[in-house]
Amino acid sequence: MREFGTTVFATMTRLAVETGSINLGQGFPDTDGPEAMLERAVEAIRGGLNQYPPGPGIPELRQAVSEHQKDGYGLDYDPDGEVLVTVGATEAIAATVLALCEPGDEVIVFEPYYDSYAAAIALAGAARVPVPLRVDAGRFTFDPGELAAAVGPRTRAILVNSPHNPTGTVFTREELASIARLCEEHDLIAITDEVYEHLTFDGVEHLPLATFPGMRERTVTISSAGKTFSVTGWKIGWVCAPYTLVSAVQAVKQFMTFTSGAPWQLAVAYGLRHEMEWVAAQRASLSAKRDRLAAGLASSGFEVLRSAGTYFIQADIRSLGFDDGLAFTRQLPERAGVVAIPTQVFYDHPEYGARYVRFAFCKRDEVIDEAVDRLKRL
Ligand SMILES: *Cc1c(COP(=O)(O)O)cnc(C)c1O
Repeated sequence: MREFGTTVFATMTRLAVETGSINLGQGFPDTDGPEAMLERAVEAIRGGLNQYPPGPGIPELRQAVSEHQKDGYGLDYDPDGEVLVTVGATEAIAATVLALCEPGDEVIVFEPYYDSYAAAIALAGAARVPVPLRVDAGRFTFDPGELAAAVGPRTRAILVNSPHNPTGTVFTREELASIARLCEEHDLIAITDEVYEHLTFDGVEHLPLATFPGMRERTVTISSAGKTFSVTGWKIGWVCAPYTLVSAVQAVKQFMTFTSGAPWQLAVAYGLRHEMEWVAAQRASLSAKRDRLAAGLASSGFEVLRSAGTYFIQADIRSLGFDDGLAFTRQLPERAGVVAIPTQVFYDHPEYGARYVRFAFCKRDEVIDEAVDRLKRL
């Protein structure tokens, strides 16, 4: 694990504190989740739900996740054996990769990728094979030929994150179909990170890879409550997959954490059943925040890319006369009092992402406005 030092988020958040900057780096909301759901957690604690919950997760939450997959996507998962509750999506991803990949196996990831993927693959002794997302017609996308060429005899799995952090891309039906075809052709497992499944904008639809023909039996679908309900500190996630895959993941998970978060599990079960209207309002609010930040960045001289989902927007810094996002984001706190994340740190090939920086818009309007005012100094 030597190559995995301090994450860029820790570095940039420290810089933000040191310089009194507005932190549009790390992607956490600065407002709370639905009131009644928070209240459920309080009640659960006061009601004595304070001991180890069952290893697979409390039954109410597994049932609620199963209903959520059925109602939202028409996917059937047995709450007893095909749903596993985890410590956020992060543990779900790590336990899945550890469970399903042997040393020497290869795992395909789209770069830029979420930083925990590389660490999970390394922990498993597997090798990551990056396939770049590049900007085409204003959004980040991949070349299906390049993806196909990345498959080799040792390829075991492909990790797919849509809606995608850090680019804001939501894969289209055609893009997902090309991934599905490849998985079928080469007998690959798909591990999908769908933590932003409810945060898509402009009518863009999130399509779980498991809904594509032949994919349910080879897909480990991962999501969590953090982004959907603005409770990133609760760390309640879940895995949906066929019995054999879930039991393999659970075999690993039980020795990482066994179980966690009884009161929050119950509250998230409540959220999935009763707070989807709050989520719809949250989506509308985030969409407006995206527009607010995009307009502000454009007026500050950035060229802004289209974000179809997530908490994030990508800005091209060349229009401001820069060509290296790392140098740019290091200077930005001093020069403008704003923190952003250089997109290149999510790449194995930084050159593909060198001219982009990521801004988070999951912040109060006044925070976004103040950040934009400051960026106008540039
Ligand atoms: C936030 C995030 C996660 C982590 O989810 P937790 O439920 O907090 O563990 C995983 N993947 C992506 C792409 C994320 O943005």
